[in-house]
Amino acid sequence: MGEEPQASLLHCRHIILATGAQERPFPIPGWTLPGVITAGAGQILLKTSGVVPEGRTVLAGGGPLLYLLAYQYLNAGVKLDAILETTASSQWLQALPHAWNFLRSPYLGKGLTLMRAVRKAVPIVSGVTALEALAGENGQLAEVRYTAGGQSRSMAVDQLLLHQGVVPNTNLSRAVGAEHAWNDLQDCWEPVVDAWGATSVPQLSIAGDGAGIAGAMAAEHRGRIAAVHVAAAVGRIDTAARDREAAPHQAALARATRGREFLEVLYRPAAQFRRPVGDTIVCRCEEATAEQVRHAARIGCQGPNQMKAFLRCGMGPCQGRFCGLTVTELIADEQQRHPRDVGYYRLRFPTKPVTLGGNRHAAADPGIARGGRAFQEVRGEGQLSGTDGQLTNVLRQPSRRRTRRRTAMRYGATQLESEHRRRQASGHIEAPPAPKVPQRSSAAATS
Ligand SMILES: Cc1cc2nc3c(=O)[nH]c(=O)nc-3n(C[C@H](O)[C@H](O)[C@H](O)COP(=O)(O)OP(=O)(O)OC[C@H]3O[C@@H](n4cnc5c(N)ncnc54)[C@H](O)[C@@H]3O)c2cc1C
Repeated sequence: MGEEPQASLLHCRHIILATGAQERPFPIPGWTLPGVITAGAGQILLKTSGVVPEGRTVLAGGGPLLYLLAYQYLNAGVKLDAILETTASSQWLQALPHAWNFLRSPYLGKGLTLMRAVRKAVPIVSGVTALEALAGENGQLAEVRYTAGGQSRSMAVDQLLLHQGVVPNTNLSRAVGAEHAWNDLQDCWEPVVDAWGATSVPQLSIAGDGAGIAGAMAAEHRGRIAAVHVAAAVGRIDTAARDREAAPHQAALARATRGREFLEVLYRPAAQFRRPVGDTIVCRCEEATAEQVRHAARIGCQGPNQMKAFLRCGMGPCQGRFCGLTVTELIADEQQRHPRDVGYYRLRFPTKPVTLGGNRHAAADPGIARGGRAFQEVRGEGQLSGTDGQLTNVLRQPSRRRTRRRTAMRYGATQLESEHRRRQASGHIEAPPAPKVPQRSSAAATS
């Protein structure tokens, strides 16, 4: 173990966030069992520590990363028992109009090589519409149950790796109050940026996948474009030099993003895997289930922020990374609203848990000592506070205070619920109109 990371304040005239992507949550029954991890986690273990799965191993879901990991495992000598592919055959037809650009894209050659190798070595079950991980007597993953072609089957497994694409990591851009918009094609939030990566917050730009998923090659060019823009904004170069410097990267960016629509349409995750039902855990930190979230939405919870008061979703150590998109989509589903109108969690610093020890030095800084206001105050002067790329300025609360607040919030939610029922029964408020039957798949129905 290395030394504990120390927080410090960094004062600067402009910040470019480049927080990259994170995996989209894949909330199926049993996804919290020991033995179930994401494909991204599997790849990190492989790349950083040379750790590979042992025993019967199954990959499930869809998207390029799933096949890339399968290819990397095969090259590392790992035997894969199956890939359960959730991409429906109808999605190939939907993606067809974008095929011409994809055929001219840099992804084609690489993609074909690895798909060919994986298909030769691993049994692939196509058109999976339902997935469930089941525990054995020891509480660990023992079986994966799936539906394909209308038939339900199961396999004994030791390791299950799930993946259904990546989405922008927006925790920092949200915490500083940048405007975000819902991307209908990718079913996720992304910060609103202009062609230079500038956001709605003055002196804050975003580059790379954190500004919208476009891949590693595009990320590099977006970083350079944002950098020359900032150089011009702070007076280091004039706009003519900025435009000259940016031109080759703008052209390279256009080449790097060619063909993305094909992948986005082809690998768009099916609704039943984004909008779970029943006892499936949605918020892993607070163990809130899909039905609890749906129930809160049915009795009038207006959005993810009020959901915090009902169920504490999004208030655990992951700060919504695992549940945020699902909560937005479940509320939208129950209330027949567009996710854009439902909104997202209002996020607070710190974006990741920090220890008091880690804040030892920074706490002495007057900016940090003022807590959550530090960012707002320096922003007005054209400066932002941060710690080696991580903006953070709030110390963790002592646990007793957290516990008291948690109890108060649960109590508040219960009160709200019973008050709502009482007023409905007494005719003070109308019962909400019966929701239209939400789209639920056979996966949801069987889970
Ligand atoms: C799990 C996973 C696996 C992937 N595997 C591949 C692959 O094999 N091949 C491929 O081409 N693409 C892969 N991608 C996509 C790839 O990550 C991106 O296209 C590319 O890396 C984007 O570059 P970037 O500079 O935007 O972000 P990144 O290269 O991801 O860099 C973002 C950096 O920001 C840091 N960061 C994030 N939040 C904070 C914070 N709050 N405080 C401090 N630092 C923070 C991260 O630790 C990271 O170092 C993967 C994506 C994911 C999520």
